Amino acid sequence: MQITKPIQMVDLGRQYQRIKGEIDQAILDVVSSTRYIKGPVVDAFEQELAGYLGVRHVISCANGTDALQIALMACDLRQGDEIIVPAFTYVATAEVIGLLKLHPVMIDVNTDDFNVTAELIEQAITEKTKAIVPVHLFGQPAPMKEIMEIADRHKLMVIEDNAQAIGSDYFYGKDQIFKSGTIGHIGCTSFFPSKNLGCFGDGGAIFTNDDDLASKLRMISNHGQGERYYHEMLGVNSRLDAIQAAILRIKLKHLDDYCARRRHVADQYDEIFRSEARIKIPERVEFGTHVFHQYTLQVPPEDREALRAYLSDKQIPSMIYYPVPLYKQKAFAEYWQDPERELPVTEQLCRSVMSLPIHTEMEEDLVRYISRSVINYFQQ
Ligand SMILES: *Cc1c(COP(=O)(O)O)cnc(C)c1O
Repeated sequence: MQITKPIQMVDLGRQYQRIKGEIDQAILDVVSSTRYIKGPVVDAFEQELAGYLGVRHVISCANGTDALQIALMACDLRQGDEIIVPAFTYVATAEVIGLLKLHPVMIDVNTDDFNVTAELIEQAITEKTKAIVPVHLFGQPAPMKEIMEIADRHKLMVIEDNAQAIGSDYFYGKDQIFKSGTIGHIGCTSFFPSKNLGCFGDGGAIFTNDDDLASKLRMISNHGQGERYYHEMLGVNSRLDAIQAAILRIKLKHLDDYCARRRHVADQYDEIFRSEARIKIPERVEFGTHVFHQYTLQVPPEDREALRAYLSDKQIPSMIYYPVPLYKQKAFAEYWQDPERELPVTEQLCRSVMSLPIHTEMEEDLVRYISRSVINYFQQ
């Protein structure tokens, strides 16, 4: 295959080109409306997203990290309360916990789907545990049914970090399908441009079915005010702007198609990689659907850097999500008493994972070029 322009991890340019007319018009409409922050377009987007997710309330905010912070702020937590999070995730999940003077308890994940398990959560619960923040990593839900059972038993709040999995389904029980992010007490997402539902800047949202939590979340995201200039609690300033909402309204209509396109790429990758025993393909759980925010392989650690260099020579980019366990980050040192202690699966994943390009605009010959190149490395 002739590579005429650089291969990207995510091709947002071609995705935009397909909906350019509609997007450009929507942006211009907001510009001439002069309603730039909140307003009718943001309200409409919140309602449409609530409809899509099948959830009672969507509260938009400035980014996914704020969404997590606001969610925690709404949970009546006190300094030192323990919040369980995976050690193998993006920094934001645990960062906001520390920032609020709460205590992140970082736990291991499982090697097949990169997510926490009910068992690992249960082992980490103490008298001080007040909440769990499961992450639906790389686009696939964590086992929410079991997590909710544990949370009910121990009276814990559950805040889903759904930043990478918006659009995925969770098969809760017979004939009961929920969208990921709507099963816990609160769900959070990010509209960062490269996320599966991304805008053209920063954006985020919080979901809940609980009316009281919803009004609290809404207040906290807006300086703690219900009625204007009457502040009932300390809050933050975290708002989605109308241009981003206008873009998101259009892209939301395509979200299911975007997820299907990513899944199709993953299917093709899987099929080719299955022939190589040294590659572990991302496993798919039976209780939910995968929307492949990332397509992440596990390869022998001793091969990973050479493989990436080999691909790079063929102009194929790859990324390591994530290279360092959270507890080994300097920023989290105070939450990890024993520096010798390691979580085995997280350690192993940080050494062996490698994510390949996956996006909505990938043609079959490109997927074939990338996957054959990976196979060729192992067979040279
Ligand atoms: C992207 C992401 C976030 C944070 O979202 P921002 O909009 O970048 O603040 C949080 N958690 C996970 C798992 C993410 O992937």
